[in-house]
Amino acid sequence: MNKKERAEEKKRKRGDQWKAYYAAHKEPILNQQREYRHTTRGHLVRKAAARRRNARMRLSGGALKGSDWDLLRAAFGYKCAYCGRAESEVGPFEPDHATPVARGGRTTLDNIRPACPTCNQRKGDQSAEEFLEVLAKERRLKP
Ligand SMILES: [Zn+2]
Repeated sequence: MNKKERAEEKKRKRGDQWKAYYAAHKEPILNQQREYRHTTRGHLVRKAAARRRNARMRLSGGALKGSDWDLLRAAFGYKCAYCGRAESEVGPFEPDHATPVARGGRTTLDNIRPACPTCNQRKGDQSAEEFLEVLAKERRLKP
């Protein structure tokens, strides 16, 4: 196992541990997060995050035009660009940045993919290629 593989193994393990912990303590964790959001500090932290997100959005070229979004979804056959599920099954798609805004991606037709809410949230700040690789790995592991 090389250094990169060891780091990935460690990251995966930590993720699994957190998933197990979260599953066992979901209610108290959600309550704690909810309470934190209502504190002054929690409120300011969220406000600052929203400001950063809006600033990134402005710098990335603003929002996609509605007609462009329709064209894009049609071009993908109204299927999620990542898991391939139909928009009619998984609820309205969200515009996902293939190269994330956090990594310099812009809001242009060639950088936006229609993504189901689950994929969009799971993808986070991974690139489209990285996230597709994660999904492919999961598929290979499935019995
Ligand atoms: Zn999806």
